[in-house]
Parts: sequence; structure tokens; C-alpha cells
Amino acid sequence: MIPPPHGGRLVDRRASAAERARREAELKDLPKAPVFVDQLYDAEKIGIGAYSPLEGFMGAEELESVLEHGRLPSGLPWSMPIHLPVPEAKAAPGVQELRAGDEVALVDGDGRPVALLRIEESFRFDRPAMARRAYGTEDPAHPNVADILAQGERAWGGRLELLRRLDTVGNRPEPGPAELREEFGRLGWRTVAAYQCRNPPHTAHEYLQRLTLEREEIDGLLVHPVVGRLKRGDYRPDVILDAYDALVAAYYPATRVIVRPLGITMRYGGPRAALFLAIVRKNYGCAAYIVGRDQAGVGRYYDPYACHRIFDTFDIGVVPLRYEESFFCRKCGWMASEKVCPHGAAERVQTSQTRVRESLAKGERLPSEILRPEVAEVLRRPGAVLTS
Ligand SMILES: [Zn+2]
Repeated sequence: MIPPPHGGRLVDRRASAAERARREAELKDLPKAPVFVDQLYDAEKIGIGAYSPLEGFMGAEELESVLEHGRLPSGLPWSMPIHLPVPEAKAAPGVQELRAGDEVALVDGDGRPVALLRIEESFRFDRPAMARRAYGTEDPAHPNVADILAQGERAWGGRLELLRRLDTVGNRPEPGPAELREEFGRLGWRTVAAYQCRNPPHTAHEYLQRLTLEREEIDGLLVHPVVGRLKRGDYRPDVILDAYDALVAAYYPATRVIVRPLGITMRYGGPRAALFLAIVRKNYGCAAYIVGRDQAGVGRYYDPYACHRIFDTFDIGVVPLRYEESFFCRKCGWMASEKVCPHGAAERVQTSQTRVRESLAKGERLPSEILRPEVAEVLRRPGAVLTS
């Protein structure tokens, strides 16, 4: 069945048309805080209910509870901090003095208002400690830790009101949780599995998706690539989406798989991030969630199967579909994993994303055991990978 949102109710903090009109008039008198793109995504996701039950950015008590217990003060599981660092003085003179009770417009890089925040709390937090507790490391080489350390050490907590959706980052609109829940209803899907990804599909991804589609309790699969802030070396969002479209069109029944973008910044937090990403998909209406090896991992910071075990500690009302590492085995002649294949490493064709990228960059043709030719064609587009 379509699960209820996390906490029981889908949060909707979008300003109505009438409120927006009233707010537009007030906006010119409000202080404006330019907010880093990661927090703009968060503000949007709070507003449309993707982060239900959050109605705003976390205050000190909520943050402490999440970092210490992996739960909101209510006891509901929640694993990642959703906080709003106050912009530095040089970017926004004057906003550092704002206090509880003040209202501030959160604006994007062009100065356009995205949301209004009623500041309920302005508090200091220990940035290295937050990094360590959320990501298990203070190493500035970790991308999210670097972000925390680069931003301010004061944060605002408070409920927000979303004034507008952000511009789409892919080549198609991004449905919110309410829209996806409706879409599942139209498709007649009751039990939907979510597939988290950051990259175009190779055959190891496809294998997990097929294993999921074979399960009798699963009606449909939501491929939900995270297409938030981009960094050098990432595939462009439209490339990821088109690559999946190519896979679906050529190899999946059209009635069983949909591909939709999710604009959030990726948290490479290993187990905590996997749990968070599953909670978000629950809000989008997914009752099952695919967890591969080392989900949301980066470098060697996390045990590759800690992302499986965290679902034993926290029951979020979503069934984790846990899969081990898969590969193409020449002897078996199929995709396989340790669970079904007795052959050694010499028979196994590893299908890592690194290998795919390197081969494509050199103009090599990858065997279809690794990459579907329809997907390879999309990935060979000029500019598919961001170089700056
Ligand atoms: Zn084998």
C-alpha cells in the first residue's frame, strides 16, 4: 500500500496565491538572506512535504536529538541534520543581528525570494562536532564535511513558507510528494519501490531493479535520481534522466517503471544518509526502498553494509530491499552476486561507475555486459560530464 507520510501527515508549507500576493508587497521591507543552494533545496523540500514532518529548519534541540539519537524529539526516526547556517556578514550585511521573532526572506543567488522564514531561534553550533556526528568524520576531504566547515557557525531554526518552486535542474519538471502519490494512484500502483541513484544506469543497477520488479509484492519502480547541486565530474541531470529513459524504453515494461528527478543535495553520509533518503521516498509514497552496497558512501568512510544494518535499528515504515554487490560472471553468463555465484574474481566483470567513465572518456566501446548500448549512446553526448 501507499504508506502514510513520515509522521502521518504530508506537510504543505506552500504559500497560497493570495498569501503570495500579500507577501510580495511586504517583501521589499524584509531583510534578505542569500542562502546557499543546498539549503534552498532543503527549503523547497520542506515546503512541499518531502521532508515531512519537518515544517522548517531545525532548532538546537531538534538538531541535538537527531545527531545524538537519530530521532526527532517526538521519537520519530530522522537521521540527517536539516539546518540553516546564517549567511556570513560579507554576503548579507545586517542579517547576523536578526533574532527570534524576526522574519527574513531566503533568496537565491539572483536575489529572488524562495521562502520566508520566521526565525524562532538563532543559535551557535559546533561545526566539526556536527560533521563528526552526522558524517562520522571531521575530515575536510569529505564533501559534505567541507560544506559544513565552510559555512557559518550560527544557524536559524524556524518554520518556513515556500513562495515558489525552484527552477528545474533536469529537462523535465520535478513532481512533489503529493503529485507522485497521485501518479501512483493513476497507475494503479499500491506498493512502489524507490531506487536512489546519482548516476546513469549500468548493468549492476539494472540487475537490482530487475530483482525488485520480480518481487510479487512490488507493483512499480520509481527511479528517483538525486539531481541537486552539481560538481565537476558529475553527469548532467538531463543526461542521467535521458539515460534512464533509454533503459526503460528499451528494456522495461512501460507500465512498471517511471523516472522522476529529485532536486536535493546529496548527503554522502553512509548509513545515516541511506535512512534519510528512504524516509524522503516514504514521503513520496514508496513503501519499499532499494539499498545496494555502500549506498550514499564516499571514499572509505563507511562500512559498505552499514547502510543495510541501520534499517534494523530504525523502523521507518518502509521495507528495505537490501542487495549485495553484483557483477557480471562470465562462467554463469549472467549478472550475479556472491549469493548465487561460486566463481572467483577472475570470472567477474566489475561494472563500477569509474570504469564506465574511464572507458567512455577514452572512446572505448563498453561490452553490453557492463553498459546497454542505448545508455552508452546518451553518455557519449558532448558535455555529458561537467568539466568545470
Ligand atoms: Zn558465476
